[in-house]
Amino acid sequence: MQHPYPWQETTWQALQQRIAAGRLPHALLLSGAAGLGKLDFAHLLARSLLCDSPEQGLPCGRCRGCQLFTAGTHPDFQAVRPEEGKEITIGQIRDLLGWQALTPQYGRARVVIIEPADRMNLNAANALLKTLEEPGRDALLLLVTARPAALLPTIRSRCQQLSFAAQNDAATRGWLIGQMGDAAQAELALAICGGAPLRAVALAASGGMEQRARLFGEFEALIGGQQEPIALAAQWLELPLQETLATLHGWHVDMARLKAGAATVRLDNPDLRRRLQALCEQVDLAQLLQRQGQLLEAMRLARGHPNVQLLLEEMLLGWSGMGATVAQRAAPTR
Ligand SMILES: [Zn+2]
Repeated sequence: MQHPYPWQETTWQALQQRIAAGRLPHALLLSGAAGLGKLDFAHLLARSLLCDSPEQGLPCGRCRGCQLFTAGTHPDFQAVRPEEGKEITIGQIRDLLGWQALTPQYGRARVVIIEPADRMNLNAANALLKTLEEPGRDALLLLVTARPAALLPTIRSRCQQLSFAAQNDAATRGWLIGQMGDAAQAELALAICGGAPLRAVALAASGGMEQRARLFGEFEALIGGQQEPIALAAQWLELPLQETLATLHGWHVDMARLKAGAATVRLDNPDLRRRLQALCEQVDLAQLLQRQGQLLEAMRLARGHPNVQLLLEEMLLGWSGMGATVAQRAAPTR
């Protein structure tokens, strides 16, 4: 039997109470950072509603409803996703509306998951609004997104919100150690990933921890003026860009914290404290904040930038020898 993740347990129980009281709304907006298992939660909820004999609110895993769901052929379930690199289109939403107008084949419920809901284009979002205004009977719409602010306010206001947050409690840590084996590595991966346990597991499994260590060494060399920025840009382009930019951004946030705060300030990269401290002593706070803003802009642009290489080269050129320049400026000239 599948369970919600430990950090979702409270949210799950609260929802179960609403279901038992017959107060489940017709549309839920599941939001929160990536790596918190929102989509798994949505699937579990859908399965439990379509299960013929749920056990304490959880899908039994054996009945015909559960089997059809697992096979991906349950007639009362639809998942709407964008095609690779595209938006969710009005055509997809119209198909959904046609399907939703039918009565449930099994007489229980009809469940739709739209994920990521923020990828609906404006026409699709407007078409969806209609179904939110006139929901079908026994229909449940689950919108899943890490960027709820990117949805139309009218869509947000017609959904009940379920927000997922990072937890660093004993149950979550226990689960993560079970997945990763090593407690210290698990703790570090969780910190690096902003408390999102599934991202931590994925990072460790994909060799991301080793890659991050290598990247940091190259970043130090770049700031010290010992690394050629154009060559480095070409090298970094081989890596997943959004994650690389997010990693760089995380280091900047920590450097700004170190620069502004006490030596004991909490960091997202606790293992790099000493080296980040050494780096941030070479640059001033204004530069750091400017780079941080640039990184955020780059992350936004990189979603649809036609020349990612140029973008990365420009940024690395800006960083190149940044430490050396400031050190020179600070050194008295004779
Ligand atoms: Zn079942």
